[in-house]
Amino acid sequence: MKSLAAQNSPFADTAFQLDVLMQPQQQGTAFPMFGQRLLDHGLLPLKPTQISILQINVGKMCNQVCKHCHVDAGPDRKEIMTRETMQLCLDALAQTDIPVVDLTGGAPEMNPYFRWFVEEISKLGRQIIVRCNLTIILANKKYHDLPEFFKQHRVQVVSSLPYFTASRTDTQRGDGVFDKSIKALQMLNAVGYGQEGSGLMLDLVYNPAGSFLPGNQKALEGEFKRRLKQGYDITFNNLFAITNLPISRYLDYLISTGNYEPYMEKLVNAFNPAAAANVMCRNTVSVGWEGSLYDCDFNQMLELPVESRAPRHIRDFHLEALTARNIVINQHCYGCTAGAGSSCGGETVS
Ligand code: SF4
Ligand code: SF4
Repeated sequence: MKSLAAQNSPFADTAFQLDVLMQPQQQGTAFPMFGQRLLDHGLLPLKPTQISILQINVGKMCNQVCKHCHVDAGPDRKEIMTRETMQLCLDALAQTDIPVVDLTGGAPEMNPYFRWFVEEISKLGRQIIVRCNLTIILANKKYHDLPEFFKQHRVQVVSSLPYFTASRTDTQRGDGVFDKSIKALQMLNAVGYGQEGSGLMLDLVYNPAGSFLPGNQKALEGEFKRRLKQGYDITFNNLFAITNLPISRYLDYLISTGNYEPYMEKLVNAFNPAAAANVMCRNTVSVGWEGSLYDCDFNQMLELPVESRAPRHIRDFHLEALTARNIVINQHCYGCTAGAGSSCGGETVS
């Protein structure tokens, strides 16, 4: 399977995606504007609370081509962050005390400067999260020692595993992904990840396979823990249940299967003001592979930069100005505010 970009799909065009999201629906009235819902609950303009996470997308290259990928990542994507831009991120971090750096991609480990970057962030004493797709650990001999490398830098590993069965995982992420993911999880467990008392955090990410909202996070976590322990002797710390946002490949899937309107309706009807108050863009700034700044990784993929009054490139990073910004919102934001809420750390309302 190729990325949408390589297929020249209209869904690779962010203006096209935004048009779809903003269009009045065919059978009736348009969905209410997300901004109006925030206004109704005293949350517009949406402002950051405190920036505690710098999420850095180091590139769109990936060894997988998952069906619902909001990045449209894959082996055919060549956009990756340069060492110079990474240095600008380090300079920005050094002038702040932002405690958490969240590295994402693509497969962030495929960036040739990934290990150097982790080492340099580590020297700054920040907590590092790596969104590791698991299969990368087995993709090539040069990645086999990643569990040891992560351990050395006390990296928190956060990994997608859509389900505890091969069929559902492979349907979403590609043939053979489940078996490789299991092997990689066992390798992480072997060096101490997910083991009680080790302090090495291994978290899993669940996202629904179809056009439905995730079930209860705690219940899913219990079931995943039981099934992975029984079947494969795997342990992990937390499970994050994440809602699929209607952008990129998932938007393409919704439209091509006729599920777009019913899915949007579900998101809109499940709008939860408590989740809206806790959206992750209120404590995060997202950096793109070329150094541009965004409110979150979803806005980044829609090419919606931070508002023009705020610094828009990592070289101009200014914590106070970014904390004072108005967050850029659109209809896809309903994905973060449905039910118990959704963020890169799972539910936002307990
Ligand atoms: S592993 Fe992650 S980045 Fe790569 S294609 Fe799958 S969802 Fe996208
Ligand atoms: S999609 Fe991004 S900007 Fe919108 S609510 Fe979610 S985190 Fe915030």
